[in-house]
Amino acid sequence: MIKKIEHLGIAVSNIKESLKVFEALLGTNCYKLEEVESEGVKTAFLQVGESKIELLEATNPDSPIAKFLEKRGKGIHHIAFEVDDIKSEIARLSKEGFILIHETPKDGADNKLIAFLHPKSTESILIELCQEKS
Ligand code: ZN
Repeated sequence: MIKKIEHLGIAVSNIKESLKVFEALLGTNCYKLEEVESEGVKTAFLQVGESKIELLEATNPDSPIAKFLEKRGKGIHHIAFEVDDIKSEIARLSKEGFILIHETPKDGADNKLIAFLHPKSTESILIELCQEKS
């Protein structure tokens, strides 16, 4: 089951500069900085009520974030939905005809198991499923 919007992922070119903007905007400080080596990204998280903002900066030119910035510029990169059981959601969405980028969950930032859906099957919006690791 999909429970809520867990976070919005925003592609930025410089996480430190963007943090100044978002910390001032939201009136709160970033609670976690984390690098996800397998994805070639540095992330920063800010809490907004029940949801979060995730800022993403590329750590190398082959990073998906570097490619996104090149193609589309800074902006909203993905919407992440929290699910209670990521494996059963992957199975359900695959049966519904959605294209999975990850057929099996992988480790993501912020203590999560994650899987992405291809924007081709989701109205050009990159969708992330995430489940808190227990
Ligand atoms: Zn995310």
